[in-house]
Amino acid sequence: MLTPDQTKELKARLEADLSRLGDHAHQAMEFTMDRDRDRIGRDSMDEATEEEVYSTALRLADREAGLVAKIREAMTRLDAGQIDECEECSEPIGFKRLMARPVTTLCFECKSAREQVEADERPE
Ligand SMILES: [Zn+2]
Repeated sequence: MLTPDQTKELKARLEADLSRLGDHAHQAMEFTMDRDRDRIGRDSMDEATEEEVYSTALRLADREAGLVAKIREAMTRLDAGQIDECEECSEPIGFKRLMARPVTTLCFECKSAREQVEADERPE
C-alpha cells in the first residue's frame, strides 16, 4: 500500500504527464489542419518531404493518444488504491518504480519476465 503522501506525489506526477501530452496532441492537430489548408501551390519536392513529416507527426500523435489512455487508467487505479498492485502476481510494485514509470501495471520481476517475450513487439 502507498502512504497518502506517496499517493499524492504519484497523482501530481500523472497529472503533469497528462497535461504535457495534452499540449503535444494539440500541436499535432494544428499541424494536420495547416497541412490541409496549405495544400495548393506546393511543388512536388516539398510534398514528398511534407508527406514524411506528416506521417511521422501522425504516428507520434497515435503513440501519445495511447499514452494518454494509459495515464488515465493509472489514475483510475490510483483512485481505487490499486496502482501499486502488480496485475500478474498481486505483489506491491514499489513507489520508486511507480514514480519512474507511473503507467506500469507490473512489478519489476514480472516486467522483466515479460520483456523476454515482448522485447520486439512492445519496447518500453
Ligand atoms: Zn508481479
